[in-house]
Amino acid sequence: MNVTVSEKAFYAMERRVDRWLEQEGPVRTFGAEWYPEPLVRFSDVPEVQPYVDKVLALVGCDRPIRVRRRRGSAAAHYDDGVIAIPSRHNGGAYFLREDTALHEIAHHLTRGDGHGARFARAYVDLLAATGHPVLARMTEIACFEAGLPVAKNR
Ligand SMILES: [Zn+2]
Repeated sequence: MNVTVSEKAFYAMERRVDRWLEQEGPVRTFGAEWYPEPLVRFSDVPEVQPYVDKVLALVGCDRPIRVRRRRGSAAAHYDDGVIAIPSRHNGGAYFLREDTALHEIAHHLTRGDGHGARFARAYVDLLAATGHPVLARMTEIACFEAGLPVAKNR
């Protein structure tokens, strides 16, 4: 699969999950009613580092990640052990969220996979491991519906 296409498809899937999270009350989809768990919002970039450290410890990853402010307001970004997030005053409010941090940690855990099947599995597992089992299940089904492969095991 073309990496760019799968990346676009993954972002579109995430926006669909976002819309569910913005809804009041239960989310009716996949033939059921769902109550997805809320996500942590960070006040600014320095709050993300201790969160990321905790998640890495939780999953037993001993390769550290450094979190830094990203110049420009494009988006959060992961590269070679560094997560760059635009600060709040620079348009970063949307990215100062737990799911964004987990998305970038999933890149750290599955280097070289892009937004592929191992990455999707890691992201879903991180959601579940951080107290969002319902959101994890919804995300996994949304991946399948969008044609995004999710590996069975990491
Ligand atoms: Zn990504």
